[in-house]
Amino acid sequence: QTRPVLLQVQGLKVAYGGIQAVKGVDLQVREGELVTLIGSNGAGKTTTMKAITGGLAMNDGDIQYLGRSIRGQGAWDLVRRGLVMVPEGRGVFARMTITENLLMGAYTRTDKAGIAADVERMFGIFPRLRERRDQLAGTMSGGEQQMLAMARALMSQPKVLLLDEPSMGLSPIMVDKIFEVVRDVYQLGVTIVLVEQNASRALAIADRGYVMESGLISMSGAGRELLEDPRVRAAYLGE
Ligand code: ATP
Repeated sequence: QTRPVLLQVQGLKVAYGGIQAVKGVDLQVREGELVTLIGSNGAGKTTTMKAITGGLAMNDGDIQYLGRSIRGQGAWDLVRRGLVMVPEGRGVFARMTITENLLMGAYTRTDKAGIAADVERMFGIFPRLRERRDQLAGTMSGGEQQMLAMARALMSQPKVLLLDEPSMGLSPIMVDKIFEVVRDVYQLGVTIVLVEQNASRALAIADRGYVMESGLISMSGAGRELLEDPRVRAAYLGE
Protein backbone atom coordinates (compact mmCIF):
# COMPACT_ATOMS: atom_id res chain seq x y z
CA GLN A 1 0.00 0.00 0.00
CA THR A 2 1.51 3.30 -1.08
CA ARG A 3 -1.47 5.56 -0.61
CA PRO A 4 -1.00 8.18 2.08
CA VAL A 5 -2.35 7.52 5.56
CA LEU A 6 -5.13 10.04 6.28
CA LEU A 7 -6.06 8.88 9.72
CA GLN A 8 -3.88 7.22 12.31
CA VAL A 9 -5.28 6.28 15.70
CA GLN A 10 -2.76 5.14 18.32
CA GLY A 11 -3.48 3.82 21.78
CA LEU A 12 -6.80 5.66 21.96
CA LYS A 13 -8.51 5.52 25.33
CA VAL A 14 -11.84 7.15 26.11
CA ALA A 15 -13.79 6.95 29.38
CA TYR A 16 -17.22 8.06 30.49
CA GLY A 17 -16.63 9.06 34.09
CA GLY A 18 -15.01 6.00 35.62
CA ILE A 19 -16.06 3.65 32.83
CA GLN A 20 -13.38 2.92 30.25
CA ALA A 21 -15.28 2.42 26.97
CA VAL A 22 -12.26 2.47 24.62
CA LYS A 23 -9.15 0.88 26.08
CA GLY A 24 -6.29 1.38 23.64
CA VAL A 25 -7.38 1.30 20.02
CA ASP A 26 -5.00 1.44 17.05
CA LEU A 27 -6.27 1.86 13.54
CA GLN A 28 -5.23 3.34 10.27
CA VAL A 29 -7.11 4.60 7.23
CA ARG A 30 -5.46 5.32 3.89
CA GLU A 31 -6.68 7.66 1.21
CA GLY A 32 -9.49 6.22 -0.88
CA GLU A 33 -10.12 3.24 1.41
CA LEU A 34 -13.41 1.97 2.70
CA VAL A 35 -12.69 0.67 6.18
CA THR A 36 -15.34 -0.93 8.34
CA LEU A 37 -15.48 -1.22 12.11
CA ILE A 38 -17.68 -4.05 13.35
CA GLY A 39 -18.35 -5.57 16.75
CA SER A 40 -21.13 -6.30 19.20
CA ASN A 41 -23.30 -3.75 21.00
CA GLY A 42 -21.36 -1.66 23.45
CA ALA A 43 -17.95 -2.63 22.03
CA GLY A 44 -16.98 1.04 21.76
CA LYS A 45 -17.40 1.70 18.03
CA THR A 46 -19.47 4.87 18.34
CA THR A 47 -17.22 6.16 21.11
CA THR A 48 -14.17 5.66 18.86
CA MET A 49 -15.85 7.53 15.98
CA LYS A 50 -16.85 10.42 18.25
CA ALA A 51 -13.32 10.73 19.59
CA ILE A 52 -11.95 10.81 16.03
CA THR A 53 -14.36 13.58 14.97
CA GLY A 54 -13.90 15.82 18.00
CA GLY A 55 -17.13 14.95 19.77
CA LEU A 56 -15.46 13.34 22.80
CA ALA A 57 -12.16 14.04 24.54
CA MET A 58 -9.55 11.28 24.58
CA ASN A 59 -8.02 10.20 27.87
CA ASP A 60 -4.89 8.79 26.32
CA GLY A 61 -3.29 8.03 22.98
CA ASP A 62 -3.30 10.16 19.89
CA ILE A 63 -5.14 10.66 16.63
CA GLN A 64 -3.33 12.03 13.61
CA TYR A 65 -5.28 13.39 10.69
CA LEU A 66 -3.37 14.40 7.55
CA GLY A 67 -0.17 13.87 9.50
CA ARG A 68 -0.98 16.16 12.43
CA SER A 69 -2.36 15.46 15.88
CA ILE A 70 -5.96 16.57 16.28
CA ARG A 71 -5.88 16.29 20.05
CA GLY A 72 -8.10 18.96 21.57
CA GLN A 73 -9.60 20.12 18.27
CA GLY A 74 -13.35 20.60 18.12
CA ALA A 75 -15.76 19.09 15.64
CA TRP A 76 -16.16 22.40 13.79
CA ASP A 77 -12.45 22.69 12.96
CA LEU A 78 -12.31 19.07 11.89
CA VAL A 79 -15.31 19.43 9.58
CA ARG A 80 -13.60 22.38 7.97
CA ARG A 81 -10.52 20.22 7.44
CA GLY A 82 -12.58 17.42 5.90
CA LEU A 83 -13.15 14.98 8.77
CA VAL A 84 -16.90 14.52 9.02
CA MET A 85 -19.20 12.13 10.88
CA VAL A 86 -22.78 11.16 10.08
CA PRO A 87 -24.07 10.13 13.50
CA GLU A 88 -26.39 7.24 14.22
CA GLY A 89 -29.95 8.53 14.22
CA ARG A 90 -29.05 10.91 11.37
CA GLY A 91 -29.81 14.22 13.09
CA VAL A 92 -31.33 16.01 10.11
CA PHE A 93 -33.01 19.35 10.76
CA ALA A 94 -36.60 18.14 10.88
CA ARG A 95 -38.25 21.53 10.37
CA MET A 96 -36.12 22.53 7.43
CA THR A 97 -36.60 21.42 3.84
CA ILE A 98 -34.24 19.05 2.12
CA THR A 99 -32.61 21.87 0.20
CA GLU A 100 -32.15 23.88 3.40
CA ASN A 101 -30.58 20.86 5.11
CA LEU A 102 -28.12 20.52 2.24
CA LEU A 103 -27.19 24.19 2.49
CA MET A 104 -26.61 23.76 6.24
CA GLY A 105 -24.12 21.05 5.37
CA ALA A 106 -22.09 23.67 3.49
CA TYR A 107 -21.85 25.99 6.48
CA THR A 108 -18.07 25.86 6.52
CA ARG A 109 -17.88 27.01 2.89
CA THR A 110 -18.13 30.44 1.29
CA ASP A 111 -18.01 29.55 -2.42
CA LYS A 112 -21.60 30.27 -3.39
CA ALA A 113 -21.39 28.97 -6.96
CA GLY A 114 -19.65 25.81 -5.79
CA ILE A 115 -22.30 25.22 -3.14
CA ALA A 116 -25.13 25.58 -5.67
CA ALA A 117 -23.36 23.21 -8.03
CA ASP A 118 -22.91 20.68 -5.21
CA VAL A 119 -26.62 20.81 -4.31
CA GLU A 120 -27.32 19.80 -7.91
CA ARG A 121 -24.63 17.12 -7.67
CA MET A 122 -26.32 15.68 -4.55
CA PHE A 123 -29.63 15.57 -6.40
CA GLY A 124 -27.82 13.60 -9.09
CA ILE A 125 -26.46 11.08 -6.58
CA PHE A 126 -29.71 10.96 -4.58
CA PRO A 127 -32.62 11.38 -7.05
CA ARG A 128 -35.10 10.77 -4.23
CA LEU A 129 -33.94 14.00 -2.60
CA ARG A 130 -34.46 15.98 -5.78
CA GLU A 131 -38.08 14.85 -6.00
CA ARG A 132 -38.61 16.01 -2.45
CA ARG A 133 -36.40 19.07 -2.34
CA ASP A 134 -39.05 21.33 -0.74
CA GLN A 135 -40.39 18.74 1.70
CA LEU A 136 -39.66 19.11 5.41
CA ALA A 137 -36.93 16.66 6.38
CA GLY A 138 -38.86 15.47 9.45
CA THR A 139 -41.64 14.10 7.25
CA MET A 140 -39.39 11.80 5.23
CA SER A 141 -38.93 8.07 5.82
CA GLY A 142 -36.01 6.76 7.83
CA GLY A 143 -34.12 5.71 4.72
CA GLU A 144 -34.70 9.04 3.03
CA GLN A 145 -33.47 10.84 6.13
CA GLN A 146 -30.35 8.67 6.12
CA MET A 147 -29.71 9.64 2.51
CA LEU A 148 -30.21 13.28 3.39
CA ALA A 149 -27.79 12.98 6.32
CA MET A 150 -25.16 11.52 4.00
CA ALA A 151 -25.79 14.14 1.31
CA ARG A 152 -25.62 16.92 3.88
CA ALA A 153 -22.27 15.59 5.11
CA LEU A 154 -20.98 15.43 1.52
CA MET A 155 -21.86 19.12 1.11
CA SER A 156 -18.98 19.92 3.45
CA GLN A 157 -16.59 18.28 0.95
CA PRO A 158 -15.20 15.65 3.33
CA LYS A 159 -11.93 13.88 2.75
CA VAL A 160 -12.90 11.24 5.29
CA LEU A 161 -16.54 10.42 5.97
CA LEU A 162 -17.40 8.42 9.09
CA LEU A 163 -20.78 6.70 8.95
CA ASP A 164 -22.26 5.37 12.18
CA GLU A 165 -24.67 2.52 11.44
CA PRO A 166 -26.33 4.02 8.38
CA SER A 167 -28.55 0.96 7.86
CA MET A 168 -29.88 0.96 11.44
CA GLY A 169 -33.63 0.48 11.68
CA LEU A 170 -34.29 0.48 7.94
CA SER A 171 -36.39 -1.90 5.86
CA PRO A 172 -34.49 -4.52 3.82
CA ILE A 173 -35.01 -2.59 0.57
CA MET A 174 -33.73 0.61 2.14
CA VAL A 175 -30.75 -1.25 3.60
CA ASP A 176 -29.87 -2.36 0.05
CA LYS A 177 -30.22 1.20 -1.16
CA ILE A 178 -28.02 2.59 1.61
CA PHE A 179 -25.24 0.08 0.91
CA GLU A 180 -25.46 1.01 -2.78
CA VAL A 181 -25.11 4.68 -1.92
CA VAL A 182 -22.14 4.00 0.38
CA ARG A 183 -20.46 2.25 -2.53
CA ASP A 184 -21.28 5.15 -4.88
CA VAL A 185 -19.76 7.66 -2.48
CA TYR A 186 -16.68 5.44 -2.13
CA GLN A 187 -16.38 5.32 -5.90
CA LEU A 188 -16.45 9.11 -5.98
CA GLY A 189 -13.15 8.88 -4.12
CA VAL A 190 -14.30 9.78 -0.61
CA THR A 191 -12.46 7.82 2.08
CA ILE A 192 -15.00 6.07 4.29
CA VAL A 193 -15.05 4.63 7.79
CA LEU A 194 -18.21 2.58 8.19
CA VAL A 195 -19.52 1.34 11.54
CA GLU A 196 -22.12 -1.36 10.98
CA GLN A 197 -24.17 -3.95 12.81
CA ASN A 198 -24.69 -5.59 9.46
CA ALA A 199 -21.21 -7.13 9.53
CA SER A 200 -21.46 -9.37 6.48
CA ARG A 201 -22.62 -6.59 4.17
CA ALA A 202 -20.10 -4.13 5.54
CA LEU A 203 -17.19 -6.58 5.16
CA ALA A 204 -18.34 -7.47 1.64
CA ILE A 205 -17.88 -3.88 0.41
CA ALA A 206 -14.92 -2.89 2.60
CA ASP A 207 -11.26 -2.89 1.60
CA ARG A 208 -10.33 -3.61 5.20
CA GLY A 209 -12.08 -4.21 8.47
CA TYR A 210 -11.46 -4.01 12.19
CA VAL A 211 -13.32 -6.07 14.75
CA MET A 212 -13.87 -4.37 18.08
CA GLU A 213 -14.57 -6.20 21.35
CA SER A 214 -14.88 -4.65 24.82
CA GLY A 215 -13.02 -1.49 23.92
CA LEU A 216 -10.19 -3.12 21.97
CA ILE A 217 -9.48 -4.19 18.40
CA SER A 218 -9.49 -7.98 18.41
CA MET A 219 -8.93 -8.65 14.69
CA SER A 220 -8.19 -6.79 11.51
CA GLY A 221 -7.61 -7.63 7.89
CA ALA A 222 -8.95 -7.40 4.37
CA GLY A 223 -12.74 -7.29 4.21
CA ARG A 224 -12.97 -10.62 2.36
CA GLU A 225 -10.47 -12.25 4.71
CA LEU A 226 -12.53 -11.30 7.76
CA LEU A 227 -15.72 -12.34 6.00
CA GLU A 228 -14.30 -15.85 5.67
CA ASP A 229 -12.71 -16.01 9.11
CA PRO A 230 -14.45 -18.71 11.20
CA ARG A 231 -14.18 -16.62 14.38
CA VAL A 232 -15.87 -13.67 12.69
CA ARG A 233 -18.49 -15.92 11.17
CA ALA A 234 -19.29 -17.47 14.54
CA ALA A 235 -19.40 -14.23 16.50
CA TYR A 236 -20.87 -11.71 14.07
CA LEU A 237 -22.44 -13.48 11.14
CA GLY A 238 -24.67 -15.78 13.16
CA GLU A 239 -23.04 -19.07 12.16
P1 ATP B 1 -23.63 -0.04 19.56
O1 ATP B 1 -23.36 -0.91 18.41
O2 ATP B 1 -24.61 -0.64 20.52
O3 ATP B 1 -23.92 1.38 19.22
P2 ATP B 1 -20.89 0.65 20.21
O4 ATP B 1 -19.88 -0.37 19.85
O5 ATP B 1 -21.03 1.81 19.29
O6 ATP B 1 -22.27 -0.05 20.43
P3 ATP B 1 -20.49 2.61 22.27
O7 ATP B 1 -21.77 3.30 21.98
O8 ATP B 1 -19.25 3.25 21.86
O9 ATP B 1 -20.53 1.14 21.65
O10 ATP B 1 -20.45 2.29 23.82
C1 ATP B 1 -19.32 1.73 24.47
C2 ATP B 1 -19.59 1.64 25.97
O11 ATP B 1 -19.66 2.96 26.53
C3 ATP B 1 -20.90 0.97 26.33
O12 ATP B 1 -20.70 0.18 27.47
C4 ATP B 1 -21.84 2.13 26.63
O13 ATP B 1 -22.81 1.77 27.56
C5 ATP B 1 -20.90 3.15 27.19
N1 ATP B 1 -21.37 4.52 26.92
C6 ATP B 1 -21.64 5.04 25.71
N2 ATP B 1 -22.05 6.33 25.81
C7 ATP B 1 -22.03 6.63 27.13
C8 ATP B 1 -22.32 7.80 27.90
N3 ATP B 1 -22.71 8.93 27.30
N4 ATP B 1 -22.21 7.72 29.22
C9 ATP B 1 -21.78 6.57 29.84
N5 ATP B 1 -21.47 5.44 29.17
C10 ATP B 1 -21.58 5.46 27.84
